[in-house]
Amino acid sequence: MSRTLLAAALALGLASTAAAAPPRVDPALHDQALQILIKGVSFRTVQGAGQVPAYADYLKGVLVQAGWNPADITIESMDGTAFLIARYPGTDPTRKPLVVSGHMDVVEAKREDWERDPFTPVVENGYVYGRGAVDDKFEVSMVVATLAKLKREGWTPGRDVILALSGDEETAMKTTAALARRLTNADLVLNTDGGGGALKDGKPLPYGIQGAEKTYADFTLTVTDPGGHSSRPTPTNAIYRLARALDHIADYRFPTMSNDITRAALAAEGQSVAGPVGAALKRFAIDPNDAQAVATLSADADYNPTLRTTCVATMISGGHAPNALPQKASAKLNCRIFPGTPSEKVRETLAQVIADPTITITRDDDGSIDSPASPLRPDVMAAVTKAVHARYPGLAVVPSQDAGASDSMYFRAAGVPSYGVSGLFAEMGQSYVHGLNEKAPIAGIDGALFHWDSLLRDLGK
Ligand SMILES: [Zn+2]
Repeated sequence: MSRTLLAAALALGLASTAAAAPPRVDPALHDQALQILIKGVSFRTVQGAGQVPAYADYLKGVLVQAGWNPADITIESMDGTAFLIARYPGTDPTRKPLVVSGHMDVVEAKREDWERDPFTPVVENGYVYGRGAVDDKFEVSMVVATLAKLKREGWTPGRDVILALSGDEETAMKTTAALARRLTNADLVLNTDGGGGALKDGKPLPYGIQGAEKTYADFTLTVTDPGGHSSRPTPTNAIYRLARALDHIADYRFPTMSNDITRAALAAEGQSVAGPVGAALKRFAIDPNDAQAVATLSADADYNPTLRTTCVATMISGGHAPNALPQKASAKLNCRIFPGTPSEKVRETLAQVIADPTITITRDDDGSIDSPASPLRPDVMAAVTKAVHARYPGLAVVPSQDAGASDSMYFRAAGVPSYGVSGLFAEMGQSYVHGLNEKAPIAGIDGALFHWDSLLRDLGK
């Protein structure tokens, strides 16, 4: 982020926030978007259920009914799921396309755990209940309804606008990888499933443009030993060696890092947080080497992860009998790696910290890859700020970095900048994304429709 943009973000953070400007949305469009969402939730698009292709077909049907050329929409099957690419042809095919991404699959939901069947959508008290009602079928429905409307109105983008929907974002991400390979010529990606706003007691919180994600990485530490009878202890006990290694990891702190996004995000936080933590946030944004600010923020579990790579023990196993010396002991470490740091470098650091060459450290195949931060592009910042301010005048719009991982990871790794710019403002902690009784507020529909209309017209022109 340039100094100017940072200053602008800070100024916005200080501005008072007026009440939401109700966006003018055609009631017929609202109804259609709601129907697409309700219908969408009824497809049980969890891993292994095989219903993603049917959901993709349904979405294609909505676009075709609005006048889209069926030949511009392709659905490809892959490992029991599918991905969809819908191309809205622009007037200048030589320009790099604008991609809007989302995912059609959802996290598993068990009938016995929920109050009602998670795949029988229910509309009640102003909410649509069901697995995926928010993540990510809300935004997918809003974008599809908007793309259908734009076609009905006869709008033609200046460059190709491409809707790219993955089918296994919550699991293996193979369709995401395929989409990123197919769309490496894109100028940028607007990811529906990231960033965005939220409400606290009905009032909007600062809007985040997600421009970076930490890399998710699982490592396994393994210690082996000849073992023996427990009546005859030896100094090479595998459980003790593993415990010592984990102790070293617990004491270790990765070095502080920052980028344009985290400095701007922490600066914005500093505007609303009081006391020593607020002061530290402001000082860190100006000077990331400020030792006192680093110490204060590192001691805070909410801010520490934004400052550095973290690795933490999450699982252990070892031994095979109560009366035998363990032949094997192992532990899982989950790391969230600061953007730009290769995961192999983290593995090497862990080996140095453990300082026991007899312990093996291997990177698990967790489907995650290293991805850089996206640059803060003025065109994206301006378009998103305009769309957000039309709804919430003066609301702070700030870059954000997530702990990972979304579809953006594969696009960023392929060199295509990607920005999480969700259009939904939902009450904090009320959506139950990935949890029980997930629900989307119907009151959020018009704002999201307005948001996508504004973004597509501005960045697609
Ligand atoms: Zn999601």
